[in-house]
Amino acid sequence: MKKFDYLKPHTLEEALSLLSQYGDKARLIAGGTDAIVMNKQKKISPDVLISLQGIQGLDQIESNGTFKIGALVTHRTIEQSERIKKRFPLLAEASSVLGSVQIRNVATLGGNLCTASPSAETAPSLLVYEAEVLLVSRMEERRLSLPSFFLGPGETALDKKEILKEIILPSPPPNSLGAYLKLGRRKSVDLSVVNVAVLLTLDPKTGICERARIALGAVAPTPLRAKETEKILEGNLLDERLIIRAGDWAKQECSPITDIRGSAEYRREMVAVLVAKAIKQSVKLPRK
Ligand SMILES: Cc1cc2nc3c(=O)[nH]c(=O)nc-3n(C[C@H](O)[C@H](O)[C@H](O)COP(=O)(O)OP(=O)(O)OC[C@H]3O[C@@H](n4cnc5c(N)ncnc54)[C@H](O)[C@@H]3O)c2cc1C
Repeated sequence: MKKFDYLKPHTLEEALSLLSQYGDKARLIAGGTDAIVMNKQKKISPDVLISLQGIQGLDQIESNGTFKIGALVTHRTIEQSERIKKRFPLLAEASSVLGSVQIRNVATLGGNLCTASPSAETAPSLLVYEAEVLLVSRMEERRLSLPSFFLGPGETALDKKEILKEIILPSPPPNSLGAYLKLGRRKSVDLSVVNVAVLLTLDPKTGICERARIALGAVAPTPLRAKETEKILEGNLLDERLIIRAGDWAKQECSPITDIRGSAEYRREMVAVLVAKAIKQSVKLPRK
């Protein structure tokens, strides 16, 4: 690995000023579970690593009013947070199956999003919760929806002089139920072959699905919402036939590739299976 300087600013302002000073020669680092691997594999070769670990406040969860998760909050904190488990259980579930405990102890939510892997564990859950990211630079702050943040594999809307400060989560409507499902080649410490999040809002009297949010990961250049499939569910009772149809529809909404983890055809079929399974799990229908 190429030698680099390691800088540890104590404030966001200091970090932003270092980013401006070093420009292309610098790289931010949070938990380092992606950045160090990329460095070793020579996918990046910065002269300077700017650690965000010393910046106070970036590792906080705020739940008074708008729910905000600091970019430096680790997956271990998320999976154990009672506030997140209660209000955003799909995110807690996603963080709890990322890597191993050792990885989750250091890896951060912000790092997971900024790496912009199509299979990013937390992306489908954050997409169904309609989360936004707050990006800050020395000049301005901007809030982006996740679909506008993810541009392609390894590519985000982050400017070189920006830092992801926090993830903002609006409250889901009352009576919302959901599930996050990950298919990996083995049960733990593996990236997703396909991952799916489903969030449904049902009318408590009629059981009719008022609102559906479905997101898919590892089956397109970026994690994505399956919006046509959502429309199929909305306004309807979720019976077995409709659920199977929704799964079949979802597989038309993705564009998977073949790689070492699975073929495009397999991934497409698994989207249908996982979407149907996640809908059933959300509404607690028995599985067939
Ligand atoms: C053994 C192992 C298993 C893994 N398993 C999984 C898995 O199951 N699922 C999965 O999705 N991922 C997995 N990962 C990948 C990784 O752990 C996660 O993506 C993690 O969340 C990255 O967070 P980090 O804090 O370590 O990021 P870092 O490695 O510190 O940073 C990642 C990237 O984001 C940038 N960055 C980080 N924070 C910010 C910020 N606040 N603002 C701007 N840019 C920023 C960095 O410059 C870098 O480019 C695994 C990694 C390993 C090594």
